[in-house]
Amino acid sequence: MISRFSVAMTTDVAERLTEHLERPDSQEDCTFVLWRPSTGSRRTTALLVDLVLPEDGDRIVRGTVDFTSEYFLRSAGLAAEHGCGLAFIHSHPRGRRWQRLNDIDYAAEESFAAQSLTITGLPLVGMTFAGADARYGARVWQRHAPRTYVPTEAENVRVVGDRFTVTFNDTLIPAPRATNLQLRTVSAWGLDTQKDLARLHVGVVGAGSVGMLIVEALARTGLQHLSLFDFDTVEHLNLDRLLHATDRDVRLHRAKVDIAARAARQSATGTDIRVAAYESSVVETDGFAAAADCDLLFSCVDRPWPRAALNLLAYAHLVPVVDGGISVDARGGRLRGAEWRAHIAAPGRACLECIGQYDPAHVPVERDGQLDDPSYITGLSEDHPLRRKENVFIFSANAAAAQLNQFLTMVAAPSGIADTGAHLHHLTTGTVDQRLEGCDSGCLYDDRLRALGDHTPVSVTGPHRAAEEARADRRLYAGRWSIRLRRLVADVLSYYR
Ligand SMILES: [Zn+2]
Ligand SMILES: [Zn+2]
Repeated sequence: MISRFSVAMTTDVAERLTEHLERPDSQEDCTFVLWRPSTGSRRTTALLVDLVLPEDGDRIVRGTVDFTSEYFLRSAGLAAEHGCGLAFIHSHPRGRRWQRLNDIDYAAEESFAAQSLTITGLPLVGMTFAGADARYGARVWQRHAPRTYVPTEAENVRVVGDRFTVTFNDTLIPAPRATNLQLRTVSAWGLDTQKDLARLHVGVVGAGSVGMLIVEALARTGLQHLSLFDFDTVEHLNLDRLLHATDRDVRLHRAKVDIAARAARQSATGTDIRVAAYESSVVETDGFAAAADCDLLFSCVDRPWPRAALNLLAYAHLVPVVDGGISVDARGGRLRGAEWRAHIAAPGRACLECIGQYDPAHVPVERDGQLDDPSYITGLSEDHPLRRKENVFIFSANAAAAQLNQFLTMVAAPSGIADTGAHLHHLTTGTVDQRLEGCDSGCLYDDRLRALGDHTPVSVTGPHRAAEEARADRRLYAGRWSIRLRRLVADVLSYYR
């Protein structure tokens, strides 16, 4: 049984829906749509795949809209043939924002919920299109008892592509009150943008130097719901770059993700921030499922395997991924140059593989554990990206800022511009290269893998030895009573600080 539900679609699908549902005569209209499930750890998303538009005589438009049983059977049959579920969308031409189900629509959708489930094997998704601002409301019809179907309201409907537009169900996810602490923030982009930003469930994958800065920015900006992912333990050599990490954290063998979660709660300006800390990699089954629960992800990792997993989430599961990276040229022990990148993997935009952020050939190498094997690393050429570890706080701050700018542009679309392409910044020349075109021809991600959700034929998750060892190491350490006592004292001190 689905208890938390959401709907996601690409900009392409949204544009085709708008084109069909916005009638010049302002009458209501409708269409069937095929959907596939994307199952997270707590939330299930219906990914809209394709429209089954009505043909002449399929619908009966007179004030409210109705359709023939031939049209329903044809659509349901098509859904079953493609292993998809059936969604029904009708319009409220003068509606705005989230559309709730009224009595007439309830009875109409309830009448074919059972047949939809029988034919497709998946529950009926009902949606209402608000014609005045092209937003949606949605619900899923589940069987609670024989011949009893009950709608579960979605928490949001997401449109992903050049722009990221999310319509929230105000009943399930109420807009947070802007607080006095956010006066300057709200004056920069207005209350409506703040309400949409603050309610996004954002995941930050990797709580290293860049991830920690991004978490700080999101918490200060007033985001209410964060999921943080990292399996690493903080070490002394992280302290020159890791905001909020202290010498005491190193001595107490703290997980980086716990430091990030603690910092998010302390820096939050929102009224009640919810922070979940996952000591897992996004390539582990539970980490991947928890990442699929998010509306948007920040990628702050530097390995090929997690990047491949995030690339899959962006295209197959329609969770946009804001990615970045740093490369420092310090040949001969002198700073010769530095570059940092920021871009978003999402339908219509170039994927992480096409941008060159990871080499797919290295993914199986990392899965075998060879990238954690010193002899493999020393066998690579001196300037191999997997070998180069040079980094400083200043470049992390630049990369974090560039990623945050990409995020803000996509969500808030300043002056109506949401996509400024992938950016590559050069320190030595002070210039920025832009890539505006999408994936290279032949790339599978933004083509055949698009919106496949749970039906994706490639498996990207598996056991991750380094993550398992890091957790086991911390468990062993945390089991000692002297450490427990010292952690308790540290937590109490930080509470009263
Ligand atoms: Zn209606
Ligand atoms: Zn690609």
